[in-house]
Amino acid sequence: MAKIAIDVDGVVINLIGSWLNQFHPEYMMEDIKDWNAYKFVGISKKQMFQEWDILNPKKIWLYPGAVTIIHNLKSLGYEIFFLTCKDRKLNKGMIEHDKWILNYMSLGNFPYIINCEKWKYAFDIIIEDNPGIVNHTDIRHKILLMERPWNKHVVSLVHSTPSWYKIETIIERMIKENGRR
Ligand SMILES: [Mg+2]
Repeated sequence: MAKIAIDVDGVVINLIGSWLNQFHPEYMMEDIKDWNAYKFVGISKKQMFQEWDILNPKKIWLYPGAVTIIHNLKSLGYEIFFLTCKDRKLNKGMIEHDKWILNYMSLGNFPYIINCEKWKYAFDIIIEDNPGIVNHTDIRHKILLMERPWNKHVVSLVHSTPSWYKIETIIERMIKENGRR
């Protein structure tokens, strides 16, 4: 059965929304139109990373539908993996938050892989929000981009959706299409 890699931040966890809410409530997620979110808020990258690391996990938001749909995909027989780009030292708090939240949502039994070179794995589908992933043209057919304010400029290059609730249908279609390659 097909293997699905699911990015965590920006896909399952609403990191930017939760961060703005906790540290910069004068901004909205829709204001963040670029991958380098710290520039919009007027702080350094280092400070943003530090703030991300000390978010209150009880006030971290998840994207609607994510938990239910991931469980549905599992019941449909798909193999689920969480695949996240993090630095084990710089993002230590975030890794703890992820694990706490995933456990809390009964998603803690799926493998949690930390690796930024996501394109190197043999997954059938990669659910991602980082616009940079489309630069790896050889895996574009496997990418399912969650449409976010910071990746609008590349959504037309790959399969994409704004909502978890449409994901099952899109994945089925992608797998059929890719099978014919
Ligand atoms: Mg992400």
